[in-house]
Amino acid sequence: MGRYAYAEKEMSSEAKKMRDILVEYITVVGRRLPDDVTKKLEELAKIEVEPLQQLVYDTMKENQMLAEELNRPSCQDTGALQFFVKCGTNFPLLAELNDILKEAVYLATKKAPLRHNAVQTFDEYNTGLNIGTGIPTVFTEIDGDSDILEMYVYMAGGGCSLPGAAKVLMPGEGYEGVVRFVMDQMTSYGINACPPLLVGIGIGTSVETASMNSKLALMREVGSVSPNENAAKMEKLLEDGINNIGLGPQGFGGKKSVMGVNIINTGRHPSVIGVAVNVGCWSHRRGKIIFDSQLNYELPLHEGVEL
Ligand code: SF4
Repeated sequence: MGRYAYAEKEMSSEAKKMRDILVEYITVVGRRLPDDVTKKLEELAKIEVEPLQQLVYDTMKENQMLAEELNRPSCQDTGALQFFVKCGTNFPLLAELNDILKEAVYLATKKAPLRHNAVQTFDEYNTGLNIGTGIPTVFTEIDGDSDILEMYVYMAGGGCSLPGAAKVLMPGEGYEGVVRFVMDQMTSYGINACPPLLVGIGIGTSVETASMNSKLALMREVGSVSPNENAAKMEKLLEDGINNIGLGPQGFGGKKSVMGVNIINTGRHPSVIGVAVNVGCWSHRRGKIIFDSQLNYELPLHEGVEL
């Protein structure tokens, strides 16, 4: 079987413009944490008063200062790139979107630089390009006929992906089963994901809907609360429960294990609850970019950044 190869695509000038904006933005996402994460880390640093925990938070802060100063990624594991796109049918570059995103990752890998994280499954070699079969992953939701495109950019690292799991609970397990499942995952694997964690929980019928919901929960703002009153109560209960495990920053123990717990739920089949958990680490590199049809853009999670 031949090795994965990539040749840059012929693209319209508008597509190239969007690609080049994204190359710059992916580089920023790899280096600078989103504003909500930075704010939360500062808050948590004030709560941990012991010298070891203080040292860890100081080191994280210095890491981010140096990443900015030296123009280097925040963490050596720059993840596998994932894009969560929501756009109207009149956004002009829909047909070229997959090529734009793939090439943006390919070029950002050289520019940032990003670690080569694309291994061809079963063939077991690294493409060395950070793109490969199905990488980057692109999830697209068509949202009416507007000409706006909103997109989350996420770097799924190995350690922070590791605690991820999904299960369809037996009938009768109920919401207690959701809590048990999440707590089992967090007590067994949470420490692998460089705490403090952002815990995303998805609920739906089957594993794929629950999983997608749990990943989208990680895109929700740190500190936000579910609009569903009961889900919001569960977020608080689980946040308290996971904090009580006492993982602390980088798993060295401490008062807080999490930056937050976010739940996203959709309707479900009456006899089952599908539940999934996905985890973001302290270096939760997710960005959001909103393009209009002229390719003017906003970066709501990175205030003051100009590309
Ligand atoms: S869990 Fe996050 S901070 Fe830790 S190595 Fe992975 S990407 Fe980096």
